[in-house]
Amino acid sequence: DARARGPGHSRFYEPGMAEAAERRFVLERELRQAVAGDELVIYLQSQVNTQGTLCGAEVLVRWQHPQRGLVPPGEFIPVAEESGLIVAVGDWVLLRACQWLARHAPDLPGFRLSVNLSPRQFARPGFVEHLQACLRDTGVNPAQLTLEVTEGVVIGDFEDAVAKMRQLAALGIEFSLDDFGTGYSSLAYLKRLPIHELKIDKSFVQCAPDSPDDASLVDSILLVAERLRLRVVAEGVETQAQADFMGQRLPSVLYQGYWLGRPQPADQWLAGLNPTPRH
Ligand code: C2E
Ligand code: MG
Ligand code: MG
Ligand code: MG
Repeated sequence: DARARGPGHSRFYEPGMAEAAERRFVLERELRQAVAGDELVIYLQSQVNTQGTLCGAEVLVRWQHPQRGLVPPGEFIPVAEESGLIVAVGDWVLLRACQWLARHAPDLPGFRLSVNLSPRQFARPGFVEHLQACLRDTGVNPAQLTLEVTEGVVIGDFEDAVAKMRQLAALGIEFSLDDFGTGYSSLAYLKRLPIHELKIDKSFVQCAPDSPDDASLVDSILLVAERLRLRVVAEGVETQAQADFMGQRLPSVLYQGYWLGRPQPADQWLAGLNPTPRH
């Protein structure tokens, strides 16, 4: 086939495209092995209220690659999504997140764990049943779980996505609309989706203190969220000024960002919450 003949011999690919396809092919194969071989790792990043109280954390997956080191999700989630491997990756993340939550929930009262979902992972037939089995097997209280979705999740089969969200919401799971304000963010989605939380995209959060246009957009997002009684998380908070900007407008806002802490491996993150005395 074209790949075997190497770059320059393909009728279908420009030079460079064959190499990109080859890299992708290797990545896919390695990722398949990574899931099976437990090379994925869950990181956590805190979400705190304006008083500084911990309210939850977001699960962010990384790939501890034997040669390439720590690979960020932006470099393999899109490949996983396109190849269908996202089902295996997503199942792995959900299981690890639920196992972690079940183990530590007793020490973290009122704490919520947020897990990101990909469109194809959510669209897969049987996702609801799979998640229910995962909750049952781990003993996680669904009321402590938030699922983060983007508009991509509802762009395919809208009715199917809404039906699934309703089924899961009936169990007590909450939904968060991630990266809100990017993409099309149709207001009709807010009306028709059973969501509980908006995450204001970091591009708005970071620009708002210095840009009147971004400030106006944040103000309108906050107004909509307030009217619809949605919880608001400001993502990507990196500075005191960004935190103050959000907190002054909406005292119930939750912050997430480097200002409070970088994502850390789950157990390290936990250890950081309860520093053990040094001897
Ligand atoms: P996201 O869900 O919007 O996650 C927020 C991203 O912003 C994370 O990047 C986080 O590390 C980063 N971040 C947090 N605070 C700050 C800050 O103060 N400044 C800046 N510049 N960035 C900050 P990360 O971990 O690289 O993840 C990127 C994306 O990959 C996520 O965006 C999410 O869409 C996806 N992703 C991560 N884990 C999973 C997963 O388990 N499943 C799926 N389907 N997608 C995931
Ligand atoms: Mg997210
Ligand atoms: Mg986000
Ligand atoms: Mg974002």
